[in-house]
Amino acid sequence: MTEMEQVDVLVAGAGMAGVTAAIAAARKGARTLLIDRLPFLGGNATAGLLGNFLTFHNMKGEQICNGIPQEFVDACIELGGAFQEGHLRNAYGNAYSVTPIDAEVLKLVTQKLSLEAGVQLLLNTYTLGPIMDNDRVVGIRVANKSGESQIRAKFVIDASGDADIIAASGAPFELGDDQGKTMSISLFSRMGDVDLDKHLQYVKENPDNFMLGEDPYIGKTKAEIADSLKTYRDYPLVTGYYKAVKLAQSRGEFHPNRQRIVFSISPTPGVVTINSTSMLGLSGVNAAELTQVAIEGREQIFKVRDFYRKYVPGFENCYIIDSASAIGIRETRRIVGEERLTTDMCIAGQKGPNDIGQGSYCLDVHQASGVIEHKHIKDGESYGIPFGTLIPQKIDYCLVAGRAVSSDRFANGSVRNQAHIMSIGQAAGTAAAMCVEQKVGPRNLSVALLRDQLIKDGAVV
Ligand SMILES: Cc1cc2nc3c(=O)[nH]c(=O)nc-3n(C[C@H](O)[C@H](O)[C@H](O)COP(=O)(O)OP(=O)(O)OC[C@H]3O[C@@H](n4cnc5c(N)ncnc54)[C@H](O)[C@@H]3O)c2cc1C
Repeated sequence: MTEMEQVDVLVAGAGMAGVTAAIAAARKGARTLLIDRLPFLGGNATAGLLGNFLTFHNMKGEQICNGIPQEFVDACIELGGAFQEGHLRNAYGNAYSVTPIDAEVLKLVTQKLSLEAGVQLLLNTYTLGPIMDNDRVVGIRVANKSGESQIRAKFVIDASGDADIIAASGAPFELGDDQGKTMSISLFSRMGDVDLDKHLQYVKENPDNFMLGEDPYIGKTKAEIADSLKTYRDYPLVTGYYKAVKLAQSRGEFHPNRQRIVFSISPTPGVVTINSTSMLGLSGVNAAELTQVAIEGREQIFKVRDFYRKYVPGFENCYIIDSASAIGIRETRRIVGEERLTTDMCIAGQKGPNDIGQGSYCLDVHQASGVIEHKHIKDGESYGIPFGTLIPQKIDYCLVAGRAVSSDRFANGSVRNQAHIMSIGQAAGTAAAMCVEQKVGPRNLSVALLRDQLIKDGAVV
């Protein structure tokens, strides 16, 4: 096994949390290495073909995510990978705004901003586990086309989504519900040749068949909201067609694992991102089960296409452009951190002096049974994400960034979404660089100084 040169900050996983963390660390002067198993950056936002960021605002319309995440959106707008206004109002009502993003443009934007910040990339590389010196993480072992090697680092950020490094270090974590069952898994696809004006006309005539104005804070009926829709851009994240799904299920034309379909519009006319497959009872951290998911997901995609062609107005001629190159894993491990984000804290819109970011998306859990449950934040508020939720217990010089932060299941159902994990990423990268500079672990870092720095850099804490 060879040993590579030491870096200051090593970020394992280049999803949006990892990319944001790496950029933040490099901009603070840390020699930063960003590693991913894929040949491009963005994680589920690009490889998973997500198609949007949720959500930069609370239900009152206040922007609660800014800084580097907003830079990604601005750069995507410039390259035609987002709508001119960036964030669109979202009639669904699970969030105030949704930010449709083109996955191919985002691959370029994340790469560009990373390289400009001085981040060193190592792609097509699998992380194998941490190198420990007692309780201190001092690097990671990796495997790639060059063989196996060790990379030493003064600080490690686990942004694998699954807390792979932290779990392998022996630090505690939780997995799924009380029985270890995790949320449903989906394989996304993109479809072209879609007439969204025709679809919108159907929505306006059948509002009860859709999720519209879901958060009670909005205080409007579905009919009132449907009436106010002027263009398909006013309903960018569509969910519904309950009746058609039920009918198709009774005819064996749609899988039985969900009660409604979801798709989001894209900046490319006639192209939508489809989120309508669902695989239940399988784990995102078990290789055999992931293989089963891949097989099932591919079969479902074509049945889903046939469903849209037959039952969804405007989709009569739709075709599959591509399917996601990574399977959409909603939930696996959550670290046990120095602090824990709870359902009650989220719903109450609780904020505190140690917050390093804010979250506002509804608490959205896709149960292993297929039932989707939502809880809403009181009075259209946002909640604070305490720094301690990023600090794994029992180990040092390591933070988590992304959906594996310390949280209960419903809190995780909110904080796992893209805007929030990018805010966490900016905080993790900034904190890591400050720790390296001050030669301290995260427990000894002044959260007040971290917050000051984040605010200076445009973030909302
Ligand atoms: C089906 C589905 C629908 C969703 N819908 C939305 C939505 O509409 N809007 C929204 O905002 N959010 C949505 N989310 C949530 C959001 O996409 C994820 O929670 C978010 O991507 C988490 O970001 P992350 O950076 O923590 O992890 P990821 O995006 O998963 O990134 C992790 C990265 O680590 C890499 N990696 C993992 N393990 C290793 C390893 N061992 N070695 C090397 N690299 C590794 C992966 O390749 C990946 O690039 C959805 C999620 C799913 C699954």
